[in-house]
Amino acid sequence: SDTGSQKERVVTEEEWLQKWEMGNIGFHKEQGHPLLRKYLDVLLNGRSGLRIFFPLCGKAVEMKWLADMGHSVVGVEVSEQAVKEFFSEHSLPYCEEPVPEISGAKMFQSTSGNISLYCCSIYDLSSSIVGKFDGVWDRGALVAVNPRDRQRYASLMISLVEKNSSYLLVTVSYDPNKHKGPPFYVPESEIKSLFG
Ligand code: SAH
Repeated sequence: SDTGSQKERVVTEEEWLQKWEMGNIGFHKEQGHPLLRKYLDVLLNGRSGLRIFFPLCGKAVEMKWLADMGHSVVGVEVSEQAVKEFFSEHSLPYCEEPVPEISGAKMFQSTSGNISLYCCSIYDLSSSIVGKFDGVWDRGALVAVNPRDRQRYASLMISLVEKNSSYLLVTVSYDPNKHKGPPFYVPESEIKSLFG
């Protein structure tokens, strides 16, 4: 479990934007994630009409799936291309507006109002801007965060959830000496120290 070789690795926002431009998005899956299906009951915990957060959302199809179930979905993504592709690939009409609190940020909202995607860095968000959430689907998010930013990311996520929230986290288990990431290898022990 030596993660030393990945510790210093940095993927810049510019590099993420380039991945989207080049269509180098092997992380995107057309089908809903089997682990979300499997653990949906844990996420919902018998509740309906939840506010569910998708950090580093890309164009994850699960956002549409949960919105169709009556939940309200909020995502954040640096790539405007990804956000626009999400709405167009699901034929969802949307409107676009600036976010007064964050310079340069835009919020894209489905006309029906139940999907709001912030186009900015997650580190620009706070609960005073997006409110707090009852549930989180963290797939390709913590594992995409640069290792040096993990603590900041986890603290922010903790500040964005309600007391009785459910947080589903997907990580990837592999030998970090054989692949530079992302996805990065985040050992179980680190998840415990980040989230308590
Ligand atoms: N969760 C999605 C996408 C995973 S890939 C899925 O399951 O398909 C990680 C995504 O995070 C990329 O789309 C990248 O553009 C975005 N991203 C990277 N750094 C970010 C940041 N600081 N703030 C917001 N989005 C970011």
